[in-house]
Amino acid sequence: MRFDELDLKPQIRKALAEIGYETLTPVQEQTLPHILAGRDLIAMAETGSGKTAACAVPLVQEVDPARRTVQALILVPTRELALQYVTEISQIAKHTDIEAFAIYGGFSMAIQMGKLDHGVHILVATPGRLIDMLYNTSLRLADVRTFVLDEADEMLDQGFEQDVEFVLSCMVHKHQTLLFSATMPEEIKRLSQKYLTDPVQVELIKEHAAPASLEHCFQLVKPHQRLEALLELIKTEKPTQAILFCNSRNGCDKLYDQLKKKVDSIEVIHGGQDQNKRTSLFRRFKKQQITYMIATDIAGRGLDFAHASHVINYDFPQNAEVYTHRTGRTARMGRKGRAVTFCTPRDMARLKSILRQNKITPIWLGQEPDLSGPPKTGRRTRPRRGGKQVGSNNAPPHKRRRPRRKNSRSSGDTNPKS
Ligand code: AMP
Repeated sequence: MRFDELDLKPQIRKALAEIGYETLTPVQEQTLPHILAGRDLIAMAETGSGKTAACAVPLVQEVDPARRTVQALILVPTRELALQYVTEISQIAKHTDIEAFAIYGGFSMAIQMGKLDHGVHILVATPGRLIDMLYNTSLRLADVRTFVLDEADEMLDQGFEQDVEFVLSCMVHKHQTLLFSATMPEEIKRLSQKYLTDPVQVELIKEHAAPASLEHCFQLVKPHQRLEALLELIKTEKPTQAILFCNSRNGCDKLYDQLKKKVDSIEVIHGGQDQNKRTSLFRRFKKQQITYMIATDIAGRGLDFAHASHVINYDFPQNAEVYTHRTGRTARMGRKGRAVTFCTPRDMARLKSILRQNKITPIWLGQEPDLSGPPKTGRRTRPRRGGKQVGSNNAPPHKRRRPRRKNSRSSGDTNPKS
């Protein structure tokens, strides 16, 4: 289906043509007409599929620019995703008077509120900051007609279940709710049964399904040989752009120090840096002004780096889900991409589990290990925390203690690992 077959405002059509969106992606075909029709929706869909525009186009279509109030609210787990949404919405809305704005932690609430007072139609928010502002400022959600809950499973994994439910319960007036999630755990089913009305259900992905255009390469290395192996890999593979994933901020900084004199156009990004720097690095990487980006899992979830030809797991990912999110930064929208994962002998148990869960046929670079026997030195996998609340239940949601995050995928304000 083509965008010009939809009954959209001429300003939106013009913007879409300028961006270069002509036909709808499968996710957009299956969701956009329902969203435009005002239906509630639950979609199992991942980023990389055009999900952001599937929400952004109907929101820009439905918002009334003459009413200077928040008419659409998008809740996302990280600041980077919030900014990505605002960028996409602003592009689609560029010929209208519709304003999109993101609020997230680590930035002055007063300045954010100043912008909101000025008139914002589409608000993108991370849960903690939204709740803080609902408690401490004049921000109100009474005019919200569409509420989007994106990366719902990730939000719950990060311990935001009660925050999400609090926001849902704040909107007692009639509105449309759109819930996007890569997986559909019981908590999400429960939330949708409680808060959504006769939702259209769309399933667009199989859990952990990887794009066919992504090659999964693995290389057996001794821990002290990883740097050498990485430099050799860069020489032979010549990535157009690559994200090098490490498991911790320290690991990222150390690798950056080791590489900065040996590799051109390399930067490092993690949650220890201030937000302006991170935003600028993301922008420059997106515009292909940076070739190599060393990152924690802050870059692993949902973000769209359309041109990354390679993802290199310098540190072995914590589990199959993290592997999927990291490697999903390449091979986007049908483009070819290669994921190269360094495996040390102690990673074998997790490697087997990732290959099994993600149904990966590995391409081995160099020596192929024997994976048939039981692992000898497999590291114990940490139990899933599943976002259960551990704080006092008497406090308001924004004051409750959140459980420690499951892994280093985070918005980056509090987790020293990301
Ligand atoms: P997302 O899943 O929203 O992160 O989108 C992934 C990529 O697809 C982004 O680079 C978008 O700019 C691009 N995209 C989204 N919709 C379309 C479309 N209809 N045609 C071409 N590219 C698109």
